[in-house]
Amino acid sequence: MGEEISNKQVVLNNYVETYVKKSDMSLRTSKIQLKIPSGCDGAILVKNLYLSCDPFILSRMKKLEGHYIASFTLDSPISGFGVSKILDSSHPNFKTGELVWGFTGWEEYSLIKDPNILFKVPDKDLPFSYYTGILGMPGMTAYVGFFEFCSPKKGETVYVSAASGAVGQLVGQFAKTAGCYVVGSAGSKEKVDLLKNKFGFDEAFNYKEEQDYNAALKRYFPDGIDIYFDNVGGKMLEAVLNNMRLNARVALCGMISQYSLEQPEGIYNLLNVIIKRVRMEGFFTSDHYHLYPKFMEMVVPLIKEEKITYVEDIAEGIESAPGALVGLFSGRNVGKQVVVVARE
Ligand code: NAP
Repeated sequence: MGEEISNKQVVLNNYVETYVKKSDMSLRTSKIQLKIPSGCDGAILVKNLYLSCDPFILSRMKKLEGHYIASFTLDSPISGFGVSKILDSSHPNFKTGELVWGFTGWEEYSLIKDPNILFKVPDKDLPFSYYTGILGMPGMTAYVGFFEFCSPKKGETVYVSAASGAVGQLVGQFAKTAGCYVVGSAGSKEKVDLLKNKFGFDEAFNYKEEQDYNAALKRYFPDGIDIYFDNVGGKMLEAVLNNMRLNARVALCGMISQYSLEQPEGIYNLLNVIIKRVRMEGFFTSDHYHLYPKFMEMVVPLIKEEKITYVEDIAEGIESAPGALVGLFSGRNVGKQVVVVARE
């Protein structure tokens, strides 16, 4: 019998219909044995260090029939990406004491029965929290979406929306390393300053101050856009389609402007896709984890040589997790939103 200790958890109280609120979640304390129970072959028991706030978590908080992802169970801990330390293992590939990143529970300790989306932390010189962001799923998203789906060429023009966030800040910096002209949009002056002064975007604008997205894009891209990395969808995507160059590419990464709406907005100008021979393609990072070693080979030296940087927004303590998650949908986060549960 292992030691039984208390385990704070973030549980879902009710299914979310439109905008997520802190009161949709609550904090509960339960008990957990720090030893894998018998009959749980292939499981690992972890102490969670960092939890990642990601927009897709909202999809699992909704009760939608036939949705692309399973809904959470009410009154149970929600789950997502995190960085954890293994306390006990009955899995042949994972050992006690190892650090891992991947799917875990929003709680202090988790028994992971099926660790199929779990990777060992390969480089211990960099901050472990980076495995929720630049070295984890969002980093892979920026890499796969930009290099695999947009096929950038030197001198091309690139536009990134939600550009200061977990994914966007990297797309912009990757685009600069590829020799592109990059413009980003974000929702505050502070974020616009970050884009220009810290991440090296050529230009940036606050989309909340623009009455007419079409006119804003014409101002920054008088000759049109070659690549659009779309994190927001909706009216911004529509405006971008009016400003594409011939043979442009659009990577459909996310549509955060639509996630909380009762009725999604339509895109009314798809004829531009034909006229401009635009390749517009959606992707899921989870289909591309086989590229993780190739991605790490590229990104780790860029970080160590200080050729790219990463901004995190750190919320302290598991108690802060509901508020941190909610903040994603109003743009409260500046950079990658991380929750620190424990520092080892
Ligand atoms: P993030 O940018 O770190 O945080 C979300 C940001 O979205 C907010 O800070 C806010 O920034 C912006 N936002 C919120 N509501 C908005 C609205 N109504 N209109 C415009 N912008 C809004 O999030 P992230 O993790 O990097 O994710 C970015 C996008 O990528 C999301 O759409 C996400 O779903 C998607 N994604 C897709 C995949 C995939 O596999 N395809 C994987 C990861 C992420 P502002 O202050 O700038 O408004």
